[in-house]
Amino acid sequence: MSDCIFCKIVAGEIPSSKVYEDDEVLAFHDIHPFARVHFLIIPKAHVASLADCAPEHERLLGRMLLLAPRLAKEQGLDSGFKTLINTGRGGGQEVFHVHIHVFGGGDPVRRS
Ligand code: 5GP
Ligand code: ZN
Repeated sequence: MSDCIFCKIVAGEIPSSKVYEDDEVLAFHDIHPFARVHFLIIPKAHVASLADCAPEHERLLGRMLLLAPRLAKEQGLDSGFKTLINTGRGGGQEVFHVHIHVFGGGDPVRRS
């Protein structure tokens, strides 16, 4: 997707502060963090949202989710963290490349 910000990050066309990378998943710090630690876990292949995921994405989504506690711990979130997936405009999604927010640290954070 040539006009997708996260695809451009995957392609290295937009810089990012990487937390993790393998052949199918990338994690990087959110540019506007709403906690002391806030990063995003995305698939390298473009999928617009959770609502656009199909059964073929089941393993990939599982891998992304299981990376959350591992990377949160590596980022120093020892006492816990929040995860968030905004889906669709009504769900507050702004970047239409599916992603898991992982955030925490400092004071307890809330975001609906
Ligand atoms: P959404 O509302 O779609 O769930 O969240 C998109 C997130 O992507 C926002 O928290 C926003 O700060 C982050 N974001 C948008 N553009 C960029 C960017 O160019 N680089 C990084 N690192 N994060 C971005
Ligand atoms: Zn994309």
